Amino acid sequence: MRYSLPGKVYLAGAGPGSAKLLTLRALEVLQEADLVLHDGLVSADVLACIPARTAVQSVGKRCGQKKITQDEINRRMIRAARSGQTVVRLKGGDPLIFGRTHEEISALRQAGIEFEIIPGITAVAAAAAEAQIPLTERNTASKLVLVSNHASTNKMQRDWHTSVTRDATMVFYMPGSDFASLIAELAASGLGERTPCLMVSNAARPEQKLIRTTLGALDSVPVATAPSLLIVGSAVAGARGEEWLAPAGSTEETDAPEPEEFRLSLQESDQITAE
Ligand code: SAH
Repeated sequence: MRYSLPGKVYLAGAGPGSAKLLTLRALEVLQEADLVLHDGLVSADVLACIPARTAVQSVGKRCGQKKITQDEINRRMIRAARSGQTVVRLKGGDPLIFGRTHEEISALRQAGIEFEIIPGITAVAAAAAEAQIPLTERNTASKLVLVSNHASTNKMQRDWHTSVTRDATMVFYMPGSDFASLIAELAASGLGERTPCLMVSNAARPEQKLIRTTLGALDSVPVATAPSLLIVGSAVAGARGEEWLAPAGSTEETDAPEPEEFRLSLQESDQITAE
């Protein structure tokens, strides 16, 4: 006979990397947990906040690593909670953004396990803060689109080009390294080759790198170390970061005037005020 009460599962966001960007609630439940199941995006800095007595299991499903199925993760969460343990399912960034949390919510509901979702700072929020750019801007960027560009995402979900407009800030999570089709689709959707782009690798981590470029030069940007994301749109103009220009002769010179919204100089964009 079992006397312990069923435990609880916390589906918690670990933020982009720095432990300073954890929420107080996430930190609190990490202190109470009996078991932490974390994905491959959770940084060493965050893992160091977990007390030594806590069981910690990496259940990352990242490319190139040994596969652990979603069913197996669900089973481990449910088994531990049923035995009365407090379980933290810790995910990089925010658990509800490209985090496959839907499957875990369904499994927990079906098993009748109590759970709580703890939001986290999603990668693009940290990337924008580090680059010192707004993701929306009153006059030029009225739309923010988060796109999963993962190769395995099915065709319907990849139909993001219908969201591309000149007043959108497009954010590509899991951008991969083959930019040719991405660039072609953005160009076909009406974005000019001078559209500002920003590659952010390892946002809010010691290895952070910001590369500012344009759509015309994006193809020649050196492959960024994972995790990285790509932000495209006028909001990116004036971002902090290294500038990457296309190698000489790789893009056609054009006399076309630069669109007004992309002409923000670094100084002007520094003066953008909060909306
Ligand atoms: N739930 C996460 C996203 C998971 S999808 C979130 O809200 O941030 C995984 C993708 O997130 C990575 O391929 C990368 O595109 C992005 N990402 C996560 N952490 C990042 C970081 N520190 N810097 C840049 N991109 C990051």
